[in-house]
Amino acid sequence: MKLPPPPSFQLDGRRALVTGAGRGIGLAAAAALAEAGAEVWLVARSADEVEGAAQAIRDAGGRAEGYVLDVTDTGAVRAFFAARPAPHILVNNAGTNRPKPLWEVTEADYAAVLDLNLRAAFFVAQAAAMRMRAEGVAGSLIHLSSQMGHVGGRNRSLYCASKFGLEGMSKAFALDLAPFGIRSNTVAPTFIETPLTRPMFADAAFRADVVSRIKLGRIGNPEDVTGAILYLASDAAGLVTGTSLLVDGGWTAD
Ligand code: NAD
Repeated sequence: MKLPPPPSFQLDGRRALVTGAGRGIGLAAAAALAEAGAEVWLVARSADEVEGAAQAIRDAGGRAEGYVLDVTDTGAVRAFFAARPAPHILVNNAGTNRPKPLWEVTEADYAAVLDLNLRAAFFVAQAAAMRMRAEGVAGSLIHLSSQMGHVGGRNRSLYCASKFGLEGMSKAFALDLAPFGIRSNTVAPTFIETPLTRPMFADAAFRADVVSRIKLGRIGNPEDVTGAILYLASDAAGLVTGTSLLVDGGWTAD
């Protein structure tokens, strides 16, 4: 008897671009994609970070190159994509947060958070999708959203605005790109311990409050998120587009 084939999570022969890949979730995603066989392009603003990360992946037997690119510079983003073949996978990960009560939010805060989390994410994804379409490359766009793209959070008016925006953007991209075999989805994690959140967890009361809301009772690690990224990148998710994969330990379940 011939058994149905198992799903494939292998990414051999695929090119994957990860933004904000120098540390945190982006670095973990780059390492996981390389481990699955992809050739990974790591981009971030800091040369030291991104080149060290790419070297570490090569040392582990993977294929990786590091590039310095500020994703908020749309001209530089377009030049980056024009200079190389289309990627099959984009992990649109670079992001930031400026948690504060809404009455303390300034226009400079708004510009910093929305410019990176939404405007840059939009134009990076647009540039990737246009290159993929022009070369007839099917593939997967994965945008790092958050549980805060699904529910509100105290002191997170800007962050929620950016991540809810990203959720809508991804769904609309899915519709425009489906005819070209390009999928668009988000991954929406709960609190993950990274350089972005580490300063927040220095406050013991904040940490305890976060843990009490995550039903599985612990803060996440970058490795908790990379399984979802790998799945959405792979052929195992070949019929998945326009959705959001929550990795939130149950935060939003009630
Ligand atoms: P991080 O601060 O640890 O890493 C962010 C990376 O983005 C760094 O490598 C940084 O150099 C890079 N970056 C920042 N600005 C850039 C720019 N203009 N151009 C290029 N690269 C730039 O952050 P993280 O915690 O790993 O978060 C990654 C993503 O996951 C973000 O979109 C974040 O909103 C999202 N997220 C994080 C958490 C969490 O708890 N850590 C939870 C949900 C969602």
